[in-house]
Amino acid sequence: MQSLRTYEVWFVTGSQRLYGPETLKQVAANSQEIAKALDSSPTIPVRVVFKPVAKAPEEVSELCQEANAASDCIGLITWCHTFSPSKMWINGLKLLRKPIAHLHTQHNREIPWSTIDMDFMNLNQAAHGDREHGFIMSRMRLSRKVVVGFWEETRLQGQLGAWCRAAAAWHDWQGAKFCRFGDNMREVAVTEGDKVAAQMQFGYSVNGYGVGDLAELVSQVSESEAGKLVSEYEASYTVPAATANLPNVRQSLLEAARIELGLRASLTNGGFKGFTDTFEDLHGLVQLPGIAAQRLMADGFGFGAEGDWKTCALVRAMKVMAAGLRGGTSFMEDYTYHFDSKRSLVLGAHMLEICPSIAASKPTLEVHPLSIGGKADPVRLVFDTPPGSALNAAMLDVGNRFRLLVSEVEVVPTPRPLPKLPVARAIWAPHPNLELAAAAWIYAGGAHHTGFSQAVTTEMLEDFAVIADIEIAIIDAKTNLRDFQHQLRNNEVYYALRKGWTV
Ligand code: MN
Repeated sequence: MQSLRTYEVWFVTGSQRLYGPETLKQVAANSQEIAKALDSSPTIPVRVVFKPVAKAPEEVSELCQEANAASDCIGLITWCHTFSPSKMWINGLKLLRKPIAHLHTQHNREIPWSTIDMDFMNLNQAAHGDREHGFIMSRMRLSRKVVVGFWEETRLQGQLGAWCRAAAAWHDWQGAKFCRFGDNMREVAVTEGDKVAAQMQFGYSVNGYGVGDLAELVSQVSESEAGKLVSEYEASYTVPAATANLPNVRQSLLEAARIELGLRASLTNGGFKGFTDTFEDLHGLVQLPGIAAQRLMADGFGFGAEGDWKTCALVRAMKVMAAGLRGGTSFMEDYTYHFDSKRSLVLGAHMLEICPSIAASKPTLEVHPLSIGGKADPVRLVFDTPPGSALNAAMLDVGNRFRLLVSEVEVVPTPRPLPKLPVARAIWAPHPNLELAAAAWIYAGGAHHTGFSQAVTTEMLEDFAVIADIEIAIIDAKTNLRDFQHQLRNNEVYYALRKGWTV
């Protein structure tokens, strides 16, 4: 995944001409100091760029249009050091198409009790200036994040950092292309959805491409190119004796390598940021892509099995949010349960396609039959996932809107060896417990497929949902099932009415 430092957020300070040049000079100097500190904060992954203080309606409008057109600008941080009458912001905010974080801070941390005078009071007015600024955004029903506190605090910078990651993922979606080889798995409902609505809401497009064209690219991969990639596989992963001694193992590995190289060429040539496939439409491919999907995900591509384009796009977004952080992100499926009166567990896995970014140690390279699909035995990487906090997220098309559903979980050490399970897996306990979390997930219409991450936080996904202007429902340690159901019912009304309120 590319570094997020290629992106920038603009630091915009609102003021007005009333204060005179001396005060405005001081406002600009103080703002520059804050922008510089945020830019060099280790928790803020993008560049923070100071913009000239906005003092009049024309300046606000020009700046917003400039931000819309700037290809590296992923959003605006706004702050009112002094009082900036908000009617002068209306036209600009109406035009603005980039996310906003409203920073409510103050240049000075403390009140200088013994020296404070009216000059100081006139300069340091965020406490009321930002309320006027907040009113107009609430009045216009603008979705934004409000972050409050002293600008040097780690907590505050972390909140802005989470928003920057969400804004970067949103920026990455605008104009993104996702490729589908084959349609959805036949008769499956949750992986369906309105691709036109998704493009209008999210900015990415999803289109189908012939698996025959992919098979053609795969067949063009030379023996030596495939052989070179097999050598890379053997150098990167452990090959257990059971696989090494299979009679046709070399052939299987060469075939898997051809599929990876063909897929990679297809995605790169088409400028795609992710793909889906389905075991029901593999015409011309010898195996279901296993290790290919795994390694492409590790390189930052989104992936969804069985034609699941919504999860594919979500996995890509989560990979962008996670860039540079510890912990991996993968396509995932709740596979099977371990019920226990003390702490029930979920075994998460897929037929093959789990990203090795979540591997606890060096994966093993294995070849086993796939029990469905009727193709040759596919090559896959097998591993466990390290313990620690994680989350699962699903994007749902509930008919009149999209709902992002998040479930916080704790990955536990694999309780016992799984010598006969030939797939990568993660074992977790959902918060507050499996029984409540799964009930909430099912009431919310949550999918079996998810984006799983040990790096992305609920805060980032909340910020993402605010930017995308969609519903979010969160299942965490504090979830109460009765309140959760009530919230889902209230949301039905809220989202039905919401469109009438916005400008
Ligand atoms: Mn599946």
